[in-house]
Amino acid sequence: MFTDKLIKTARELVSNFKSVHPELGIASTLGRDFQVPTSVNRNLEQILRSIDQGADKGELVPRIIEQLVQTSPVEKGAAGGATNFFWGPSSGPRQKWTNQIANQVVEPLQLFYPRSLNDSADKQSIATILSRALTTGCAVKAAGSGHSYSDVATTPDFLINTHGFCRVASEHSPITGQLSPSALRSPLPLSLGPLSWSTYEPEKHHALIEMEAGITIHDLNQALEQRNLGLMNMGGYDGQTIIGATSTSTHGSGTTLPPFPDMVRSLVLATTGRWNGTTIGGKEPTDGVYFYRIEPKDGITDPAKYQDPLVQLIQDDDCFYSAICSMGCFGVIYSVVFEVMQMYWLEETRTETTLDKLMSDLQPDTGTPGHFPKVLQNTRNYEVIIHPYPMKDGKVIDMDPGAPPETYYPYFLCLVTQRNIVPKPDTITGSSGHRNFIAQLLSLFKLSFELVVALLNKFPGLVPFAVTESMGSLVDASYINKSFDIYNLGLNQDAGFAAEVGFSLQDDAGNYTPQYFKLAIDRIHQIGQRARQQGEQYQTSPFSLRFVKASGANLSMMNGRNTAMIEMDMLTGTYAGPEVMYRYETSMYSLGGRPHWGLDFDCITGNNDLLQKMYPKLDNWLGVYRQFNVLGTFNSSFTARVGFTVFE
Ligand SMILES: Cc1cc2nc3c(=O)[nH]c(=O)nc-3n(C[C@H](O)[C@H](O)[C@H](O)COP(=O)(O)OP(=O)(O)OC[C@H]3O[C@@H](n4cnc5c(N)ncnc54)[C@H](O)[C@@H]3O)c2cc1C
Repeated sequence: MFTDKLIKTARELVSNFKSVHPELGIASTLGRDFQVPTSVNRNLEQILRSIDQGADKGELVPRIIEQLVQTSPVEKGAAGGATNFFWGPSSGPRQKWTNQIANQVVEPLQLFYPRSLNDSADKQSIATILSRALTTGCAVKAAGSGHSYSDVATTPDFLINTHGFCRVASEHSPITGQLSPSALRSPLPLSLGPLSWSTYEPEKHHALIEMEAGITIHDLNQALEQRNLGLMNMGGYDGQTIIGATSTSTHGSGTTLPPFPDMVRSLVLATTGRWNGTTIGGKEPTDGVYFYRIEPKDGITDPAKYQDPLVQLIQDDDCFYSAICSMGCFGVIYSVVFEVMQMYWLEETRTETTLDKLMSDLQPDTGTPGHFPKVLQNTRNYEVIIHPYPMKDGKVIDMDPGAPPETYYPYFLCLVTQRNIVPKPDTITGSSGHRNFIAQLLSLFKLSFELVVALLNKFPGLVPFAVTESMGSLVDASYINKSFDIYNLGLNQDAGFAAEVGFSLQDDAGNYTPQYFKLAIDRIHQIGQRARQQGEQYQTSPFSLRFVKASGANLSMMNGRNTAMIEMDMLTGTYAGPEVMYRYETSMYSLGGRPHWGLDFDCITGNNDLLQKMYPKLDNWLGVYRQFNVLGTFNSSFTARVGFTVFE
């Protein structure tokens, strides 16, 4: 009976196969449409012909199954109709979503691909998804590019791929609820097209730009360049979505430069919880799906002039400073306004040093306000990578745990990267070469990534030497390019993974101190030595140290304090890589470390009031969260893990 049903299914697919491309077609069976590769259709035709000519059906069953599993279902009523949808990413039921390194894998009830906030032509608009979630009691989570290693972007219910809403606001093709310059009280110009200034003074010339939340940082940088604008800062990579990066407080380096949430001036949230405070304009919904534009109390919009017919304006500090770093727990963010600056060029230098000299450069300068050392005052972006192992005379030193850590500082290799704004050059100067550790490692050994990892796993004693070799060859006297080309290190997103923790850069009086990151560096070195000696487990990459200005976002890792972020990196596939990461991350909490919401391997939990101790503004954040998530629509494994889950 099963065999006959299987053959009937194959016959149905073949009989109504419609080609939409030389290599692909659509066919229906069992009440739904399937994407069918042309080769599968051809193979099924052959098998069915053999059956018709008297071949043994039972023997052909495995071959039929082999072909059927290569098809994939198309959701009924998918956005844009089957043909357009065919070229879009997967959506519908029975889909698998994985994050970038596939340590988070979910098979949600539905994977959605909205292209709009509430466009009636978009069958998967954000509003439709939230409304369906309310009527069915399903949870919802928006995912960006899946570049977080933690479970912050997952749900077993309705998972939203946000890449479909990715337009930048413009005069001619407005996005929903787009702000107009006439409704602003901010003196900054709002870019609805290219902007120009008579002089090149990027630090002085700032502007506002609005975009849909799913645009990647890469695509945003292209759009900004066309408008003579640039992001004030970014991390070392541009594959994240703008709101994915913002929601976990992604950051770059620079003591005058806060993380992504602090570049946000306004955002539009779609949610299922009603805001209990004051709102201006917009429309009270009838289906329980609310649209809010959220700004601080003194936000960029003039409330007296705000007249959007759909989106209600909230100007409230607690709401804003919670929403800008909310890990997808408040609803779906549709659009965002960023403060940006005139497009600019950066010069980057990379110099080798040792930990003793580095720490001497990073001592407080008590003669200046804030006590920042000269190197941090004089450098816009200052960051360091540090060798995990002390090396002397071609050997790894065994450190005496009883000796002061400084004893070994001269033997830890460091590489300092410094960047400052420079005038626009006539041509790009210097060579970008390989600017990240992993790419450099591969090019040095002229081996494939897999072979390098296999080699280091087989002969782990080679790891410290490979790290030294690769770090040394990253030295660069000068490289000048557009800001975003300098920031973007050309990381291969699949080649490495990382855990990152933030430490206070401030003493009790609020002045700069290296005290906490120094303790963290010492501890990483001790843990690295213990793992090497006790289990031949190695860290296959240097770790990095970046400096970030304090954030106003209530749950940012940098909230309320200038922060040193330490990122422990690892080549993908390294033996015991996750175990090494776990040891590092969990040993940092007692030093006041706050783990990056995205670069964490689900280690942090709500146990023992850990988050309460880390985040003085947690209650403010929870107060807002409990309004927007009053129905539990945005509960997830993440909210359960950290103890935020709302029970109706
Ligand atoms: C190669 C690489 C390099 C990196 N470099 C840096 C770096 O230099 N500095 C740094 O700080 N971090 C860095 N990270 C970490 C990364 O920036 C963060 O984990 C970031 O959150 C990932 O963004 P994403 O778009 O992939 O979002 P996801 O990881 O998919 O999601 C992140 C969070 O955003 C939420 N979210 C996404 N879209 C929406 C929306 N529309 N509405 C509501 N919530 C939403 C999700 O629910 C989730 O909570 C790096 C990661 C990788 C893989």
